[in-house]
Amino acid sequence: MRTVRTQVAIVGAGPAGLVLAHLLHLDGVRSVVLERRDRAYVEGRVRAGLLEQGTADLLRDTGVGRRMDREGQVHEGFELRFDGERHRLSTAELCGRTVTMYGQQEVVKDLIRARTEAGAPPYFGVDDIAVGDLTGDAATLRCTLGGQPAVVRADFVAGCDGFHGVTRRSVSAGRLTAYERTYPFAWLGVLAAAPPAGEELIYAVHERGFALHSMRSPTVSRLYLQVAPDEDLARWPDDRIRAELRTRLCPAGEPLHEGPLSRHGITSMRGFVVEPMQYGRLFLAGDAAHIVPPTAAKGLNLAVSDAVVLAGALAAWYARGDRGPLDGYTRTCLRHVWRAQDFSASLTRLFHPYPGEDAMEARLRRARLRRLVGSGAAATSFAEEYTGLARDPAAARRGAGA
Ligand SMILES: Cc1cc2nc3c(=O)[nH]c(=O)nc-3n(C[C@H](O)[C@H](O)[C@H](O)COP(=O)(O)OP(=O)(O)OC[C@H]3O[C@@H](n4cnc5c(N)ncnc54)[C@H](O)[C@@H]3O)c2cc1C
Repeated sequence: MRTVRTQVAIVGAGPAGLVLAHLLHLDGVRSVVLERRDRAYVEGRVRAGLLEQGTADLLRDTGVGRRMDREGQVHEGFELRFDGERHRLSTAELCGRTVTMYGQQEVVKDLIRARTEAGAPPYFGVDDIAVGDLTGDAATLRCTLGGQPAVVRADFVAGCDGFHGVTRRSVSAGRLTAYERTYPFAWLGVLAAAPPAGEELIYAVHERGFALHSMRSPTVSRLYLQVAPDEDLARWPDDRIRAELRTRLCPAGEPLHEGPLSRHGITSMRGFVVEPMQYGRLFLAGDAAHIVPPTAAKGLNLAVSDAVVLAGALAAWYARGDRGPLDGYTRTCLRHVWRAQDFSASLTRLFHPYPGEDAMEARLRRARLRRLVGSGAAATSFAEEYTGLARDPAAARRGAGA
């Protein structure tokens, strides 16, 4: 049996696990990353695309932002459409901050390359991890590495294996409390091989349902439609998707560039938080600990934020024997987690007609939209949450002296 000894065993090579491994490396802490899927799958998985300013700054500050700076698109604001009107909100003017459009899979590629260049690439295709006792002198994971049964012994385990991963489920029953909300709709998402219709994101609130026009590059658009939670993709041929996008996004005949559609998928809308985010030698980060509905694009950014907190806490332990930040990991993270949950929930409520919504509720939503575009104070508060001012991981890392 092969034995691998490390300081931190990281389960999952998504944004949380890879950012954590990258920061630990910079802090001189040894780690191994164990990923269930193969490299091509992980690098090709299309998901989030909006990086808050603090996330983009962190990647830049830590030496993995060069391609993002070349290929990503910095957005100084976004457009909101409702009642046949178009409103632009400039986050740069409202709070001096921007967001960067750069696909999650590109962030993942850049981080995997950094791990590989550092001589510690993730182990891919590790699909049988069993987590042993988490409360003893060390943590033990059993799995198969390169076709051989293996034991990974570590001081700590970072559970960065997403919502359906194995680490959260390895905690004994009754130790964690889950808070959950399921929304009565989902998003149908596609990529279109067509230049975006505008330079910034377009959020369209329409009585037939919400629509979002986003982008991945100057030649690829990312489009979403609100659909029923149990929607069957087979009922959405491309012509129907295009017609519905035109109806919701372009009620006054605004342009929408059309091109071949691909990567069709349905994303369910759920809010989920587990408390505490740690147990014994296990620390959960990213989607393993919490899920947000995608409306405010916080999932990836929260995963990065957790990784920064955890890396700082582990570095404090190894550098100074200071256990305080590790003990306080849950408390530190939950502050920003619940803020992001609240912002995501209120944006979801604001943008989506709920099934069976009555005329009163529709008018209340419209009044809230009018306040957002008509009140400087409301717009500024929104811009701060949208760009992530309240939980800036780059500032947190700089503050930790790293
Ligand atoms: C379709 C879709 C669209 C999304 N769109 C957006 C968006 O627009 N904006 C936004 O902010 N967020 C979005 N999200 C959410 C965002 O992608 C996640 O919040 C983000 O990926 C979280 O990163 P993570 O590292 O915590 O988890 P993941 O990215 O889920 O990474 C977890 C990793 O662990 C691996 N893993 C799982 N189980 C095991 C196991 N047993 N052993 C080893 N490895 C394992 C997985 O293969 C995966 O690579 C979207 C999510 C989905 C599914």
